[in-house]
Amino acid sequence: MTEDLRIIREIRINPVVPTESVLVATERSVRPRMNEERIPHDEREWIETCPFCRGNEDKTPPTIRSYPDEQNWEIRIVPNLYPVLGDDTDEKSLSLGLQQVIDGYGRHEVLIDHPNHGMTIDRMSVPHLQMLFQAYRNRMDELYSADDRLKYVLVFKNFGSAAGASIAHTHSQIVATPVVPENVYNEVFHSRAYYGKHHHCVFCTLIDEALTYEATIYDRQSGEVRRKINVGQYVIERGKHFVAIKPFASRFEWEVHILPLVHKSDFMQVTGAELEDFALVLKRTMQRLEQVIGGVQYNYFLHTRPRCEEYMDCESSYHWHLEICPRTSIPTGFELGSGLFVSTISPEDAASRLSEVQL
Ligand SMILES: [Zn+2]
Ligand SMILES: [Zn+2]
Ligand SMILES: [Zn+2]
Repeated sequence: MTEDLRIIREIRINPVVPTESVLVATERSVRPRMNEERIPHDEREWIETCPFCRGNEDKTPPTIRSYPDEQNWEIRIVPNLYPVLGDDTDEKSLSLGLQQVIDGYGRHEVLIDHPNHGMTIDRMSVPHLQMLFQAYRNRMDELYSADDRLKYVLVFKNFGSAAGASIAHTHSQIVATPVVPENVYNEVFHSRAYYGKHHHCVFCTLIDEALTYEATIYDRQSGEVRRKINVGQYVIERGKHFVAIKPFASRFEWEVHILPLVHKSDFMQVTGAELEDFALVLKRTMQRLEQVIGGVQYNYFLHTRPRCEEYMDCESSYHWHLEICPRTSIPTGFELGSGLFVSTISPEDAASRLSEVQL
């Protein structure tokens, strides 16, 4: 760990999407931190005015699905009151010169993760988390099957105001769109190209490297050791079927990805037993983040192979995963203008701090 305290200043290329890069600059002065102090979570169990609390079901649009049942719901899916996309029937695309427009057709739903208002993922039970991801899977399947104009169903979660959550009560969102979102497209596109060249899935290669790779990198001029990569250095948590990894290059300083150990492109093929293991890996990862950064505000996104025809050939090249992105800083003008995100903590340091936590 002492070695990681040296000042690092380097640009790292995202191995999955090589057009994305991150500047790792560990000098403290590079950027003021958003929350040096831990923000305590709101732990109240019930709030009279909260539309997502149990007993306030009439404050939301009618239930689409509930688990395990409507009376004793633990998870509820409802339409979003302020959808970003709607039920527009006119689906023709407009094109004016360089300006292309696709109608904002789609579905936007809210999934209330838990009836307890102040509940957080790290404190939810493993069976509950398993049910949550089962609910995502079922709803994605239903949306894809109901309408073949929908090209992608994105499941994500905003937690905390810094991550864009407008309601404090724990919830996730499901947005089905007539286009494949850019971030997913970039991963699908670049991993397909990698597969074309190497006949191997880039995500599997990254997992293999994280679990088996060791190296020493020397400075070209001085011959000094620049960085040591140890086996398991980027592994935060490992279950029977899943692994949580701190990416070597990522937009957010505390970003962690959870991937299936055995290659699978489509989240919807996940089995119940696998989801149980996934739930445990997610819970433990969130517990680690909570202990290290405290009061963590974050987004998570589920990335899976799009169901539509054009991506049927990505079965071997794409690998589904969950990206957890804690929001500990506000992007600066340099970052927004350049697209080059700055990480003031080295990913190696972040990984060792997360994996050192005793659970
Ligand atoms: Zn509530
Ligand atoms: Zn793979
Ligand atoms: Zn991804």
